[in-house]
Amino acid sequence: MRIGVYVCHCGINIGATVDVKKVAEFASHLKDVVISREYSYMCSDPGQELIKKDIRELGLDRVVVASCSPRMHEPTFRTAVAEAGLNPYLFEMANIREHCSWVHDDRERATEKAMHLVAGSVYKSKLLEPLEPMQVGITKKALVMGAGIAGIQTALDIADSGFEVYLVERSPSVGGKMAQLDKTFPTLDCSACILTPKMVDAGRHPNIELMTYSEVIDIDGYVGNFKVKIKKKPRFIDIEKCTGCGECASRCPVDVPNEFDEGIGIRSAIYIPFPQAVPLKYTIDRDSCIRCGTCKNVCKRDAIDYDQTEEIVELDVGAIVAATGYDLMDVSSREEYGYGRFDNVITGLEFERLCNASGPTGGKILTKDGREPKDVIFIQCVGSREIGGNEYCSRFCCMYTAKHAHLVEDRIESGKAKVLFTDARAYGKGFEEFYVRVMEEGVDYYRRDHDKPVSVTEREDGKLIVTATALDGSPIELEGDMVVLATAATACEDAFEVSRLLNISRTGDGFFMEAHPKLRPIDTPSDGIFLAGCSQGPKDIPDTVAQASGAASQVLNLLAQDSTTGSPSVSEVNQDICIGCATCFEVCPYGAIEMERLEVGWRAKTNEVVCKGCGICAGECPALAINVKHFTDEQIINKIEGVLADLNEVVT
Ligand SMILES: Cc1cc2nc3c(=O)[nH]c(=O)nc-3n(C[C@H](O)[C@H](O)[C@H](O)COP(=O)(O)OP(=O)(O)OC[C@H]3O[C@@H](n4cnc5c(N)ncnc54)[C@H](O)[C@@H]3O)c2cc1C
Ligand code: SF4
Repeated sequence: MRIGVYVCHCGINIGATVDVKKVAEFASHLKDVVISREYSYMCSDPGQELIKKDIRELGLDRVVVASCSPRMHEPTFRTAVAEAGLNPYLFEMANIREHCSWVHDDRERATEKAMHLVAGSVYKSKLLEPLEPMQVGITKKALVMGAGIAGIQTALDIADSGFEVYLVERSPSVGGKMAQLDKTFPTLDCSACILTPKMVDAGRHPNIELMTYSEVIDIDGYVGNFKVKIKKKPRFIDIEKCTGCGECASRCPVDVPNEFDEGIGIRSAIYIPFPQAVPLKYTIDRDSCIRCGTCKNVCKRDAIDYDQTEEIVELDVGAIVAATGYDLMDVSSREEYGYGRFDNVITGLEFERLCNASGPTGGKILTKDGREPKDVIFIQCVGSREIGGNEYCSRFCCMYTAKHAHLVEDRIESGKAKVLFTDARAYGKGFEEFYVRVMEEGVDYYRRDHDKPVSVTEREDGKLIVTATALDGSPIELEGDMVVLATAATACEDAFEVSRLLNISRTGDGFFMEAHPKLRPIDTPSDGIFLAGCSQGPKDIPDTVAQASGAASQVLNLLAQDSTTGSPSVSEVNQDICIGCATCFEVCPYGAIEMERLEVGWRAKTNEVVCKGCGICAGECPALAINVKHFTDEQIINKIEGVLADLNEVVT
C-alpha cells in the first residue's frame, strides 16, 4: 500500500494553533505512508496539483488530506484524486481545523490531537474500497408547491426555459399574501398592478399546468424521479364551463366572512376570492352552502355540479420546489394587545385590506363603526424577537409599518400616525430612504423597551390607550382611534406535515431548513428539493423573487441533464444475516429500505438511489446485518484504533 498524506495550514486558520510541520513529519513515519507534505492552502490549484503529481509519479493508491471539514472540501479533493486516475473513494480526510485549531488554544495539545486524527485517517484509508457513483435518469418536469409570488416566479422561470411545471396551490386562486396587499414598500407601487400580470402569465403559460384548490398528499421517489399524488378538491363547478360572470354569487342568499379580506368583508357561499383571481372560476364553499339550488338555477352555462367529488392525480417530476409561504401569528391569545376584545385593534394584514380599493371599505381607512380614525397607533414586533417565543425578527414589519404610517398621513386629512417600535430595521435597497421620508412626513416614532410590557386598553369614550416603557425607563402613553399590530410572521400551520412529505428538516423557528445557511440557502439536504420565498424564513417581496429565480435556476441545472450522479456511499444489507425484523424499514428517514419476500422469509433491501448513507439503519439493526459503504464497521473500528493509538508506537 502507498499512502500520501497532505497537511494544510489553511493560512493561519490551522497554522496559528497547530504545528503543521510537526504533524506532517509525524505522518511521514506512519506505516505505508510514502510521502507526507505540508502546504499553505491544500485546496488551492497548486495544492491540488501537488497531490495529483504524487499520485502519478509515486504511484499512490490512498490519499489522506488533513485540513478543514469534509463538508467544505471533500468534493474538491475527491475530484483532484479522480483527475489523477485514482478512484475518488480511496481518499480520506482528517478535520484538524474544526476539531483542533478552532476549538483549542494550547498549541502543543492541539498539535498532538491533530496527529491522532491523522493517524486515524491513515488507518481507515487502508481499508477503503473503490466505489462507483450511480447514474440516475431524470424526469424533465418540475413541481412547485404554493403559488404566492415565490411559486409563481419559480414556475414562470422554469416554464420560460422550456420545461413543464405543475404549479399546485391549495386555495382557489394563485397570488398568496401579495394579492392581499395594497401598496408595496419601498416604492409604493400597487401590489395588484405588479402581481396580476405574473398571475395571468402563470395561468396561461403553455408549460405551466395550474392546479388550484389542490394539495400534495404523497411524495415518493428520489432526485430526478419523484412520484407525487395530488388531491384536487371539488369546487362543485365545471371550470371548463364557468366564465366567471358572477351571476351565481350575486344571487346567493348566504353571507359569510371573506377570508381574503381577513374576515372584515363578506362573501357568498359561491365565490371567487378577489376580482383578479386566477383562474377566474367560482368555488362553492360547501360548509356555508345551504343547498337552496339558486346558483344552479341562474347559471346559464350549466356549470354548477353539486355531485363533484375529490380527484387524486398522480404525477412524475424530476424536481420539487417548496414555496408554501408563511402564516401570521394569531394574536388573540395575547390579551395585552386587546385583539379580539376591542373592535379597533386590528392586524397589519387587516389594515392592508382596509387600504385596498377592492377591499371591504373600497380603500377607505375606517373604524369598525365606519368613522375615519384621526390617530392611528402602530405597534411593531408583536410576537417577534421574544425570548421563549418567536425569537427571530419577522423582517418585513418595520417597513410595512412605515408604509402603513405613510398611508395614514396621506389618506386621512389631519390623520396622525404614531409608531411604537423597538428597533427600525431598514436594511434593503431604498428602505432607509423610505423610512426617513416617512418620518419627514410627520409620523411620530416612539422607541420602547422590548423587555417591558405593552398594554392596550379601551376608554369609555372608545379611545384606545397604549402604554409602554421607553428605553430610559420613562412611561409612554399614546391615545388613538385605531391600533394596528405588526404580528409575527410564522411558519405555515402545516409546515411540519409538508416537511414530512418532502423529507426535509425545519429550523428551530419552524421554517424549512436550507442545506447551508450561507452557501446553499436554496437547496435542502434532500437532493432535487429546493426552497423559495417565506417557506424558508420571512422575507420581503424583492428577496422572495430573487430566491424564487434562484430556485428555478437550481431546478433548471438539474432538468438540463439527462442523468444525475448519486453517491455510492449507501447502506448495504447482508440478507444472509438479516432476520427480517424491519427495524431498518421503520427507522429510515428517507424510506430507502424495502422489505422483500424471499423463500427464507422477509428480508430488508436498500434502494440505493433513495439512500442518503446516513447510517441510522446500520446503527439500529439488531442483527448487525447492515453496513454503510465507505463507513463499514471495520473501517470505523480501524479509524478509532488509529486515533487512540500511542503516538510513539504507531511510527515505524
Ligand atoms: C401586512 C403585510 C404587509 C406586507 N407588505 C409588503 C410590502 O409592502 N413589500 C414587500 O416587499 N413585502 C411585504 N410583505 C411581505 C410579503 O407578504 C411576502 O414577502 C410575500 O408574500 C412572500 O411570498 P411567498 O410566496 O413566499 O408566500 P405567500 O405569499 O405566503 O404564498 C404562499 C402560497 O402557498 C400556498 N400554500 C401554502 N401551503 C401550501 C400547500 N401545502 N400546498 C399548496 N399551496 C400551499 C398559500 O396558499 C399561498 O398562496 C408584507 C407582509 C405583510 C404581512
Ligand atoms: S422587522 Fe421590525 S417590527 Fe418586525 S420583528 Fe423585526 S424589528 Fe420587529
